[in-house]
Amino acid sequence: MSNVEEKPIYLDNHASTQVDPRVVAVILHTMTTGYGNPNSVDHVFGDMAAKMVVAAQCEVAKLIGGDPDGVHFTTGASEAIQLAIAHAVSNRPHRDIPLRVALSAVEHRAVLDAISLQEDNGNVVVTWLPVDNFARLDLEALKSACASGIDLVCVMAANNEVGTLYPIEQIAQIASSANASILIDATQAAGHIPIFAVDWGITYLTVSGHKMYGPKGIGALVTLPNISIRYSHGRLRSTGNGTPNVPGIVGLGEACRLRQMEMIQDEPRIAAQRNHLEALLLSTISGLEVNGDRSNRLSHNLHLSLPDVPNDAVLARLRNRLAISTGAACTSAVDTPSHVLNAMGLAEELQNGAFRIGLGKFTTDDEIERAAGYFAAAVEDTRRAIAAI
Ligand code: PLP
Repeated sequence: MSNVEEKPIYLDNHASTQVDPRVVAVILHTMTTGYGNPNSVDHVFGDMAAKMVVAAQCEVAKLIGGDPDGVHFTTGASEAIQLAIAHAVSNRPHRDIPLRVALSAVEHRAVLDAISLQEDNGNVVVTWLPVDNFARLDLEALKSACASGIDLVCVMAANNEVGTLYPIEQIAQIASSANASILIDATQAAGHIPIFAVDWGITYLTVSGHKMYGPKGIGALVTLPNISIRYSHGRLRSTGNGTPNVPGIVGLGEACRLRQMEMIQDEPRIAAQRNHLEALLLSTISGLEVNGDRSNRLSHNLHLSLPDVPNDAVLARLRNRLAISTGAACTSAVDTPSHVLNAMGLAEELQNGAFRIGLGKFTTDDEIERAAGYFAAAVEDTRRAIAAI
């Protein structure tokens, strides 16, 4: 037996992904050679940096079937979501009537918070769209909301906790036949499933670098070509009051380029690894339940519940060996119940015993075997400790 400490296994890829070394190389190259300011119009260094930004716009657009002119760089998906909602609010059909928003109950906190801020200011009224036990959206509820008058539909492409995928093409059709705009939070889905934003008529779509093996602190809002986003400064399509984050933008572009080329091979392999892990765990741990839509979920998602075991007790036993989470990173630091599991109607004990596992393209078969062993041992140990009380 080796005494060498094993590196902990990272299976929290919904929270953030490891940056692809090829993306790191491109960022480094940009920082060391493309250091001009893209807003400098007086020399070639500025031109070179500006060209890099434009090339990155093209890569982002290609990945999600968008228009390069509709790509607006932001500090991440949260800012892109705020920008989209602020745009929809300020361009609403009637200035003195609040924007009528249909909102799925399982949206990410970034969407819920941005909408609730606008609601507090009297700019928005919300119609909630329910989900079923698998976090699937009730399309009939969407149709009847649209029939009674909706200006903006907000639905995510994939859920960040249970991984359920949403029929965004169909949802966009329902929205557009009611003349509503649509905001698709594709933060977890972009680079993992095919998306055709322009063909599907998606008004606003958001992506984030760190969810697809790119850097943190960079994302994009992608709009239809007829949408005009105004900035307080500059000529380049990037938010903020200063110089665009060129290394981040180029890193996001490269991450998108690699996903376009590799998603098709990577995703089935990752799904097979996830299915194997699921089978291993179901065969060794009694009472284990799988949450979300098992027939239509992100290939790297595995969301589990144990009714008799508090999740934090299991995670405490895994801390140095296996990185998984109890829920979304934005809420798992705070001890609040998951609004997603709640909206799905999961029993309280299943919510308290929930685990989110997120594989990635760097996950190895050996890690899957070891992770299953660690997880099963931690559950057994926790159960023994509970029985001894
Ligand atoms: N939307 C979803 C579905 C997410 O999962 C996340 C991050 O976890 C966000 C939005 C926010 O992304 P960012 O970290 O880029 O602001």
